[in-house]
Amino acid sequence: MTATLIDGKALAAKVREEVAADVATIGRLGLATVLVGDDPASHVYINNKHKAATAAGIEARDIRLPESTTQEELLDLVAELNADDTVDGILVQLPLPSHIDEPAVIAAVDPAKDVDGFHPVNAGLLYLGTPRLVPGTPLGVMRMLDEYEIPLEGARAVVVGRSSIVGKPMAHLLLQRNATVTICHSRTRDLAAHALEADVLVAAVGRLHVIRAEMVKPGATVIDVGMNRTEDGLFGDVDPAATERAAYMTPVPGGVGPMTIAMLLQNTVAAARARRAPTIASSQN
Ligand code: NDP
Repeated sequence: MTATLIDGKALAAKVREEVAADVATIGRLGLATVLVGDDPASHVYINNKHKAATAAGIEARDIRLPESTTQEELLDLVAELNADDTVDGILVQLPLPSHIDEPAVIAAVDPAKDVDGFHPVNAGLLYLGTPRLVPGTPLGVMRMLDEYEIPLEGARAVVVGRSSIVGKPMAHLLLQRNATVTICHSRTRDLAAHALEADVLVAAVGRLHVIRAEMVKPGATVIDVGMNRTEDGLFGDVDPAATERAAYMTPVPGGVGPMTIAMLLQNTVAAARARRAPTIASSQN
């Protein structure tokens, strides 16, 4: 068997077109991003987010602060953005410099504007099965699974990784769709045995080819979230040889990566809609 590759690039382009159409219907939409410090990778991520937001017609405000910014200054800025009615979505790029208390900043963002879906209220709503704003990466994975009509109801899903931004929300989204979900992590005994049972296997580890081809159940759907930069380029957590066993698989690059930004834009639309029609939004929850 040779897997059908799940084309994240094409699907992300489709989502971005949908977002652009939504923006045109809604009118003005504002996204504010905040970047503190000089981390080169973070600057690239923020540039990409801005390019994508602007292309979709979203008014993106690009706030970059020096490394020396204090926690109080950052919290003041977040409070200002919370109160600013022209801002529908707020994104504080992580990681923050080590002198800033990251959870405190995440918790300071108005949950209704938390387009990253990291706020404890949004994490809690997902946990309770009534998601509102969900982190972009796992949301993008769900969209990929749906687009390729991968059956989830009753399926065995194994998520490798338990971070708050990928693994945990991923597991909850799959659970909500009635998959039988196992979460694996660094202390899991016999990862291979768990992985081999998966109809849907999501790898979100950050270790080059930690999922070997023989760990993939024949006919499985394999979603590779991992991004491992090496001298030879960008690689995932799953050995590409797994395409010989999987029915569907995401490539790296060109799989999950492009979906994350597209879903951030979709979240900005969702936040804007909910803020403009709060009663409708709350009755849907
Ligand atoms: P974290 O480092 O926060 O989490 C990694 C998880 O993998 C942890 O739960 C850890 O377990 C687990 N783990 C580590 N080693 C092993 C192992 N040998 N076997 C099983 N589990 C293991 O990473 P993130 O969740 O933030 O990101 C994961 C990967 O996804 C990274 O490569 C990251 O770059 C990529 N990523 C890609 C995105 C995209 O847009 N494509 C977006 C976000 C992330 P434990 O909890 O026990 O430590």
